[in-house]
Amino acid sequence: MIIGCPKEIKNNENRVALTPGGTLDLVRRGHTVLIQTGAGTNSGYTDAEYVESGAEVVADIETVYARAETIVKVKEPIEYEYKLVREGQLLFTYFHFASSRPLTEAMVRSKAICLAYETVTGPKNTLPLLVPMSEVAGRMAVQEGARYLEKPAGGRGILLGGVAGVPPARVLILGAGVVGTEAAKMAAGLRANVTVMDINLDRLRYLADTLPANVTLVFSNEYNIRRELPRTDLIIGAVLIPGAKAPHLITRQMLGEMRDGTVVIDVAVDQGGCIETCHPTTHEDPTYTIDGVIHYCVANMPGAVPFTSTLALTNATFPYLLQIADKGWERATAENEGLRAGLNVVRGEIVLPEVAEAFGMPV
Ligand code: NAD
Repeated sequence: MIIGCPKEIKNNENRVALTPGGTLDLVRRGHTVLIQTGAGTNSGYTDAEYVESGAEVVADIETVYARAETIVKVKEPIEYEYKLVREGQLLFTYFHFASSRPLTEAMVRSKAICLAYETVTGPKNTLPLLVPMSEVAGRMAVQEGARYLEKPAGGRGILLGGVAGVPPARVLILGAGVVGTEAAKMAAGLRANVTVMDINLDRLRYLADTLPANVTLVFSNEYNIRRELPRTDLIIGAVLIPGAKAPHLITRQMLGEMRDGTVVIDVAVDQGGCIETCHPTTHEDPTYTIDGVIHYCVANMPGAVPFTSTLALTNATFPYLLQIADKGWERATAENEGLRAGLNVVRGEIVLPEVAEAFGMPV
């Protein structure tokens, strides 16, 4: 199979969907890999490394789309790419169709096959191609929070871990899923005083057994959240109700109960955020302040650490890409139920009910 990997052209997207390591495995199995020149540069991979692994480096994005049977990407195609996508071509990437009607209509028109990372399922209805980015964002949330707690960055001026004889900062994490757990591990490792809240008791029980003693597990409700706010330094928003907007666990009025210089990292911003005053920001201008509370609401946090994110993503996507390359997408999705769940648009038809419902289109 001919697999094409274009350079990402979405603003500030530095990841690449295929590494030289993945290229080597594909080429050894008899596949052809086309990589657009410079595709790996921002993740630390040179064209020469891809060539060494057996890829053919091509000069422009048009050639990648024109020659490849399968396109592997990180982000959804943007408008410039719509016209390049060919009938019958497979696109394996993040799409998030429900948030873009123009993208959905363009992919329906193209008659391509759109296999979306975000809807591929694993055992027990997990989403294995979303997990790695949640892991990165959860760990990063503590790093960013620590930075904005520093005085020159506008924060209260407190060190997360304190020092001998000085109490550490207090961190409140809302949601104990993938993001929340990774954030808790990092904050606990830095010796902060950490409280994690969730409504899932089984999850709280599990974490109570596995996280260190400086992490307290508390049931999430308004009363318990309000009790923490006046004494918390850093809040990390990490709730998710699948398929729904995040609930506003902290309202605008509750900001008044927090101290000036408190930092909120609302990782759940991509689902609307769990803090009412959250709106999406970018890596160029990540924060804003309301009522003395610093808000960090970057919607693509992993984009800032492409060296890590590219490997975390491709470690998870590559086994699926290999199945697609070896068997063709039709057999691969027929044999693998989880991969089949990734099919969103097939030859001009929307096959995922959630996407069709989002735009009132037929399934
Ligand atoms: P997850 O499903 O693993 O965890 C969500 C947790 O929220 C669950 O444990 C659930 O029980 C809990 N929850 C639900 N309602 C709650 C409530 N009222 N109070 C407390 N907890 C509640 O999800 P995840 O992978 O950890 O992702 C969390 C969010 O982060 C998602 O919106 C995801 O899209 C987002 N995310 C953002 C970025 C970014 O760059 N900003 C990157 C990765 C993930």
